[in-house]
Amino acid sequence: MTVDTSDYDNDPSAAQDIVLDAGWVDIEGRAAFFCPKHAAVAQFPWKLIREAGHFSIADFARLHAAVYGQAVGDALGVPYEFQRRGTFACTGMVGHGTHNQPAGTWSDDTAMMLATLDSLAENGGRVNTDDMLAKYRAWAKSGEYTPDGTVFDIGNTTSHALATGRGGTDEYDNGNGSLMRILPLAFTDCSDDDIRRVSAITHAHRISTDICVRFIRIARILLHEGTAYSRTEVCKIANIPEDLRFCERRQIQSGGFVLDTMLSALWCLVNTDNYRDCVLEAVNLGGDTDTTAAVVGGLAGLLYGDAGNPWEEELRGTELLETLIAKAAINLPGLHPRSWEVETLRKAGKTARYAII
Ligand SMILES: [Mg+2]
Repeated sequence: MTVDTSDYDNDPSAAQDIVLDAGWVDIEGRAAFFCPKHAAVAQFPWKLIREAGHFSIADFARLHAAVYGQAVGDALGVPYEFQRRGTFACTGMVGHGTHNQPAGTWSDDTAMMLATLDSLAENGGRVNTDDMLAKYRAWAKSGEYTPDGTVFDIGNTTSHALATGRGGTDEYDNGNGSLMRILPLAFTDCSDDDIRRVSAITHAHRISTDICVRFIRIARILLHEGTAYSRTEVCKIANIPEDLRFCERRQIQSGGFVLDTMLSALWCLVNTDNYRDCVLEAVNLGGDTDTTAAVVGGLAGLLYGDAGNPWEEELRGTELLETLIAKAAINLPGLHPRSWEVETLRKAGKTARYAII
């Protein structure tokens, strides 16, 4: 990394006057990513790092909101998994229920998504399926990527694939187990074949791999177009014959079949205009509540941002999330590589805050 010291010296008193929206800083020779919302408050001698080819502030914000969006959707749905539609009403973050977990606990969906993200970070944004498999196994065996170090839910196809090293190819191996962990690929420039290979680690049937490709295309459209995205285009990419806006709720299946999960998630997305309504709708569809809400929660997160998510503070394991997001932000090539500009700094007369990784 190149360290720019011409504009702001390594002077603690200067740090008192400057607040970054978000960005990289150098603290005593260590690179750290600054995030104003979740960073631990600290005072250190620091330097601004200007580095081409990394995430922009906007990219970081969207990755942050997508990861939290999925984790919160997952945690909202965990207490209601397998419950039938209409037998409950989810209105916020609660604990216990189906898996008897404390409120704010994410499940396998988010743990495996974090493993995907971590692998991409450690491989400079490139797909390394051996490394991903190793990280998925570390989750299943040792509870990596979880708030408590425990695994309380794992799908049959995933379990078998992690044990044998071969993804399921049977038509019955089309649960939503690869869709629920695929989102981080949208933050890289990986190819359709890469996406298929990542799905195939556990879910190698064409239906699963094809849906993962479509899902990442949709996520990339949302990343580029934001809330002005075309709902018709999203439905077309999903290969849905009719516009989901005109489907009735009773037509939406919300079980564990990967196609149902994508359709129910997109139905929630295109029929709402904010994060809260979107994920509550997903949970209240019943069935595979945590996965439907996790899948659409990631999309809604990147679309509506951290500010749209009312439950980030109620999530458990946020230190782990912050560490992995910052690690990814430093190591991924970025969506729109560019240099950091000094103009991103503004004077605010507050103490600078940093996330140290
Ligand atoms: Mg789950």
